[in-house]
Order: sequence, then C-alpha cells, then structure tokens
Amino acid sequence: MTFQQPRVETSPKVSDEIRQTTCYMCACRCGINVHMKTNEDGKKEVAYIEGNRDHPVNKGVLCAKGSAGIMQVNAPSRLKAPLKRVGPRGSGEFEEISWDEALDIAAGWLEPIRKDDPSKLAFFTGRD
Ligand code: SF4
Repeated sequence: MTFQQPRVETSPKVSDEIRQTTCYMCACRCGINVHMKTNEDGKKEVAYIEGNRDHPVNKGVLCAKGSAGIMQVNAPSRLKAPLKRVGPRGSGEFEEISWDEALDIAAGWLEPIRKDDPSKLAFFTGRD
C-alpha cells in the first residue's frame, strides 16, 4: 500500500494587482506591497499587505501592527461618515451626519475662539 501526500498549494494567488506605498500605522513609514483583489461587485479591495523587500527602511520586514493595517479599510466597525453624539457623554449613542453638518458644527466651535484671539487656536494632524 502506498500513501501519496496530498498536494497543498503553499502560495495561492491572493491578488490581481499590487500597489506599492508606505505603512502609516506608526511613524517608521515602512515600505509595503498592498495586494488588491477584485470582489464580486467588481470593486478593488485590500486582500493582503506584505513588506517591500526593496524598501530601504524595512527591507521586507512587516510588524504585526503593519499587517493589521488591512483593518483600516476592511474593518466592519470602520467609520464611514461623521457621527454626532445624541445621548449623554459616555452613553455611546450617536447618529450619522453629513460632512457639511460636521464642518458647520466644528466651525461653530472654533470661530468664536479665532475671533477672540487667533493665537489661542492651533490645528495639528498626523506626525510629520
Ligand atoms: S510596518 Fe510596523 S514598524 Fe513599519 S511603519 Fe508599519 S507599524 Fe510601523
């Protein structure tokens, strides 16, 4: 009796396009290859992220946080529109609002400060 090992595909094709960019999960900015696949609706979606071997920062290494970057676009809990708190602070009650409404609210908070003394107002985003 002979036993034949089943053939196992160890490197299945996971994408139909690879986009090269940098990871933004921390300040290191490692080079990444983002594998994109076309879903049933014909839209491209992120299927897999790997380190870019040709990048001078990480030389192909990708940490767990970088790998988890896929959830920035695929997580079901990802915010897709501004949310406005409608219940008491901490209640977790929010409703979705439009970007125009969100910008009006933010401008309404910031405008009086700017009018009073522009040096009291600073805006910061990101790390770079
Ligand atoms: S792969 Fe890891 S170390 Fe590199 S930028 Fe992303 S989170 Fe930072």
